[in-house]
Amino acid sequence: MGEIIVGIDLGTTNSEVAVVREGRVEMIPVSAEGPILPSVVGIGPAGELLVGAEAKNQAILYPERTVRSIKRRMGESGKVSLGGTDYSPQEISAMILARLKQVAESHLGQPVGKAVITVPAFFSDAQRQATREAGEIAGLEVVRILNEPTAAALAYEKRVEYARKVIVYDLGGGTFDVSVANIENGVVEILSSHGNNHLGGDDFDRRIQQRLESRVREGWGVDLSENRVALARLQRASEEVKRLLSDRPFGTVSEEFLFEKDGLPVHLTLEISREEYEEMISDYIEETISCVRVALSNAGVAASEIDEILLVGGSTRTPLVSRRLEEEFGRQPRFEVHPDLCVAMGAAIQAARIAGVESGQVLVDVTPYTFGTSALAELEDGEISPFAFVPLIRKNTPIPVTKSEVFFTVVDNQDAAEVFIYQGENSDVRQNIEIGNFLLDGLANRPRGNEIVLLFSLDADGILQISAREKATGLERTLTIDRQVERFGQEELDRSRERVAALLGDETEFAASPDDRETVAADLRARAEALLPDLSGEDREDLSARIADLLAALEGGTEEEFDEASEALEDLLFYLES
Ligand code: AMP
Repeated sequence: MGEIIVGIDLGTTNSEVAVVREGRVEMIPVSAEGPILPSVVGIGPAGELLVGAEAKNQAILYPERTVRSIKRRMGESGKVSLGGTDYSPQEISAMILARLKQVAESHLGQPVGKAVITVPAFFSDAQRQATREAGEIAGLEVVRILNEPTAAALAYEKRVEYARKVIVYDLGGGTFDVSVANIENGVVEILSSHGNNHLGGDDFDRRIQQRLESRVREGWGVDLSENRVALARLQRASEEVKRLLSDRPFGTVSEEFLFEKDGLPVHLTLEISREEYEEMISDYIEETISCVRVALSNAGVAASEIDEILLVGGSTRTPLVSRRLEEEFGRQPRFEVHPDLCVAMGAAIQAARIAGVESGQVLVDVTPYTFGTSALAELEDGEISPFAFVPLIRKNTPIPVTKSEVFFTVVDNQDAAEVFIYQGENSDVRQNIEIGNFLLDGLANRPRGNEIVLLFSLDADGILQISAREKATGLERTLTIDRQVERFGQEELDRSRERVAALLGDETEFAASPDDRETVAADLRARAEALLPDLSGEDREDLSARIADLLAALEGGTEEEFDEASEALEDLLFYLES
């Protein structure tokens, strides 16, 4: 088997891993329940690391030993406490990624060292960097950071052969993204992206939870804000009733022994109608609709030109979402691709393209932000302001892209120039976000007007590099952006990797050792032997022959021969079992 690059959707609520094998996208199961791994990390009673459903299940009993929705914290410099130890958001995300890496390795029977990881199109540079670092800590080389809506469009693109303009409306647990894309002849071109990094299904849960808490305050005069266990239970109940309200007009929250009052247990029961719920979240939904309008206008596309609305993310199951989109576009949105899985599927398609497994699909992505610098400018009243924003790379420019612009020194014998880098859309830099600055010093003694060439390069991952060069002398400085968040140094990355690996135990250290081959063979053999008594004729002969091949390869074959034999048997088992 050749090099494998997996595609990973590292979601706020859930994460998935997928791979393309033999031209087909395969979702990799993480448990008997399927491919969805809750993005929850916890420390179990014996100090062991829990990732996924086990961590989610203990969240109620041990909220202090459980972390969820870490994606919302990515790119921040603060730490989160997990079981009394502080971890960076990257480290927590790395625990999720490491688990996905593990399941992929045991499913594929070979080490997995590379991944394409998706992020919301609207993720900032610091958030993308943090995602890449999380991958590195988990022992994965992140070969591409891919925008989620682009990934979804890629998964969708597999199914269409004619030109279409589509909206990808992606509402997950913690983020909202909308993109306008052109899909034609195998090319996915993202025309614009817009969104809100802090809007999603978690916010809907919180609104319901607030309603429940105020019910407790009004009914029993009890403030639950210090009762972590009760709060965790309400959080879970809120999410459950929210899901229910997607299918039914009414839902009931019923929590027994939620808390004690005057030594007596209190049960909370509350019925919520879909109408009430929709009222609670309507401002959020309206905000997403405003973003859709902005994305359309940035793309220069009219609502009437849209052929299809693709719904991505678990929260698009909320009926109000489809209803509002239908009102807006006069057509029904479609769940063409599985809304929970299509991002991972698209990531796997892109990963396969990078690995050279599959070609023919071209992807054009755009930057959702404008990047530029500051310069002196004359205002209308003749005053000189140092706060004028000079954009070098404008938002919605296809990436990768490199742009340069020449600047001039303003005084004679100026020996240094300070360069500030901003991200934003305002003509006044003070309204934008400063993402870095550096000093180009040691300039030659020259009259003012000495030329400085500034070069901005934005790569396909949306990561920015800047260089400033004095034209006359070639003196140059390249910026490792002094981001809002300190970039991890290699040492710190190594330390994090050790911490995470120690928590995960030896399982991360995958090696195709003889022992593993024996385990693989034993598993396959057990499955085959369970089937054999039910088979007859050709099927039975085929299966027996492939078991024999496998055992022969195990005895004296090369690694390749073993892989080949185990795959052949696996394929046949898959066919016979289904
Ligand atoms: P994602 O980040 O795409 O995995 O989406 C997760 C979000 O979808 C969470 O906030 C879930 O509560 C929400 N979700 C999942 N199923 C439903 C449903 N049936 N109705 C409403 N929201 C849902």
